[in-house]
Amino acid sequence: MQQSDWWSSFIDRSSSADVEMKRRKFVFYFTSYVGSTIIYLFAFQHINSENTLLKTVLFGGASLILVNVAFSHFFHEKKFFTYICGLCVSLMMLGLVYSGGHMNTGLYWVFPFPFVLFVLFGYQVGLASNLVVYGLIWFLLVNQQLIPAEYSDEEISRFLSSFLATVFLMFIGEFFRYQSHLEMESINIDKHRQANTDQLTKLPNRRFLDSVYIKQVIGEPGSNFPLTVVALDIDHFKQVNDTHGHHIGDEILKHFAGLLSSHSRDTDMVARIGGEEFVILFPQTELTRGYILAEKLRRVIEENCFYYENAPIPLTASFGVACALTDSDLNVAFKKADAQLYEAKESGRNQVK
Ligand code: GH3
Ligand code: MG
Ligand code: MG
Repeated sequence: MQQSDWWSSFIDRSSSADVEMKRRKFVFYFTSYVGSTIIYLFAFQHINSENTLLKTVLFGGASLILVNVAFSHFFHEKKFFTYICGLCVSLMMLGLVYSGGHMNTGLYWVFPFPFVLFVLFGYQVGLASNLVVYGLIWFLLVNQQLIPAEYSDEEISRFLSSFLATVFLMFIGEFFRYQSHLEMESINIDKHRQANTDQLTKLPNRRFLDSVYIKQVIGEPGSNFPLTVVALDIDHFKQVNDTHGHHIGDEILKHFAGLLSSHSRDTDMVARIGGEEFVILFPQTELTRGYILAEKLRRVIEENCFYYENAPIPLTASFGVACALTDSDLNVAFKKADAQLYEAKESGRNQVK
């Protein structure tokens, strides 16, 4: 697997997108349930009022919002319902302006709603929908003869400018909140990546294998089993360190890791699990085929010496191979591969068992 992208196929931005989706879902539930309750309270306050239009707007809006959120519980995908909720909110804003609300104070009650559109839809769609509503409100206000409400010219001009300022400030707030969310997300991914990467070879480490990769394999058995497990260990590495020094040992480990990654397929998983111990997993590979692949790697290592000051340092490794047919065999396969590796060492090293 290529070192540069091995990570991205496992830890992508999905977990963070989930957080953002969850936030919108909670905002949707909260605004729908709490918002519709408050609107009902207002509606009941005006139950004896003459203004039937206002009552229709309040009762109608609250009921639409409530029915919409109730329906959404039966579906996994909530996006459609958040759009309906946004539409209800926009209609309520227009309804308030149109009817004039209680004693023509409807314009004041328009102000809480742009915020709902921003948190439901994010800064882009939030801004677009608010501007569309603003345009429609502007049309109603400059054509006052078309609507039952009565506003003074001063009220209209103050409302139009203060509403625009409110939308603009909310846009700024939502935009920078989202930017910092993206930054936090990227910091989070970096930390996750570091914790799961071996700093010397840049290969995935044991933690990645145990806590990320194996879970993924078990979660998608169809595309992974039979899974061949290869345990390998560099031969007489202590001697290499003793002869050439620890820092050359480190360079050799990098060279070794590079050989393993560049000679395995994109779908194979190469990890450094200890000092000079590595594991390779071949998904959808039977034992015989896994053995052939391991043998190929053994030869690659044998044939590609590390050069130190133009002098070759020969390198060999021993391999133990086992295969898991299902996820219940996985632990046994890891143990078996280790036992086979021990056998390979016992039988003289530089071989695949
Ligand atoms: P065998 O063939 O039986 O595997 O012999 P070996 O010498 O490779 O095995 P042993 O377990 O005795 O020694 C492993 C050596 O690997 C000891 C340690 O110094 C070295 N080693 C482990 N991690 C690192 C590392 O990060 N850098 C370097 N340079 N050496 C390391
Ligand atoms: Mg060794
Ligand atoms: Mg060892």
